[in-house]
Amino acid sequence: MRAILAGCYAALLTFTAQAAELPPGYAQNNQPQTPFKISDDIYYVGASDVTAFLIDGGDGLILTDGGFEQTAPIIEANIKVLGFDIKKVKVLLNSHAHFDHAGGLAALKAASGAKLYASQADKGVLENGGKAQFDGADTNAFPAVRVDENLKDGQKLSVGRASLTIHLTPGHTRGCTSWTMTTRVAGKPTDVLFVCSLTALPQYRLVKNPSYAGIAEDFRSSVKTLRSLPCDIGLGSHGIFFNMKAKAAKVQAGQVDAFVDPQGCRAYLDTSAKLIEAEIAKERAE
Ligand SMILES: [Zn+2]
Repeated sequence: MRAILAGCYAALLTFTAQAAELPPGYAQNNQPQTPFKISDDIYYVGASDVTAFLIDGGDGLILTDGGFEQTAPIIEANIKVLGFDIKKVKVLLNSHAHFDHAGGLAALKAASGAKLYASQADKGVLENGGKAQFDGADTNAFPAVRVDENLKDGQKLSVGRASLTIHLTPGHTRGCTSWTMTTRVAGKPTDVLFVCSLTALPQYRLVKNPSYAGIAEDFRSSVKTLRSLPCDIGLGSHGIFFNMKAKAAKVQAGQVDAFVDPQGCRAYLDTSAKLIEAEIAKERAE
């Protein structure tokens, strides 16, 4: 009990000024996380599970995702700890319009002055602060944020030397957005795949009475797209998708290539595909 109270007190100290407490079950994904280096130009700046990545283009930065509203101060602090200036962020990129990845975007956009890039299909939900999600989960609202640029499939997004290629991978949301880039690990060219998400949430219906017509086909085509992309380093919107905790511990122990894991990337895609097919089969049998 004392430990719980101490934990609550620490959380209050950190977050009182920023936002209300997170709904039960979500706070564990938003614990402070020491930032670390993934490759020569990619840094982890997110929380314990909801991710954010800082990509260094030399004369400017790309920041991907904003976590919960309550994650924004964690991300800002992590950027500072690494010695970067948030004002050098030119591109703020969102994977999808859920409150655990888009909640901090408004604060991070204001702090950086960056332009926000997101898919056309998720733009409306970002701009109305999480209302009108296809699954009706309007309870998970977040601060509304204006989208400056609509991302298109196959588009290149560059800041300095850093160049990302956008891949629209709908299903988890209508505009779920993944991207690829070539980075270097200890100087060696290495392909990175950032997966939006392939999770069919418990409230989703894929076949019977879906509130998003074509969701099953979208999930399947997104799996196909993601499987076709090169992946030496697999990253994603949640640390649990790519075994972040164990890999971060290895980086902190001095292993510079801890995130190079093509088998892990394939395994994540295979497991996700199986879960999607199992849900489709289950609904068909109902
Ligand atoms: Zn999500």
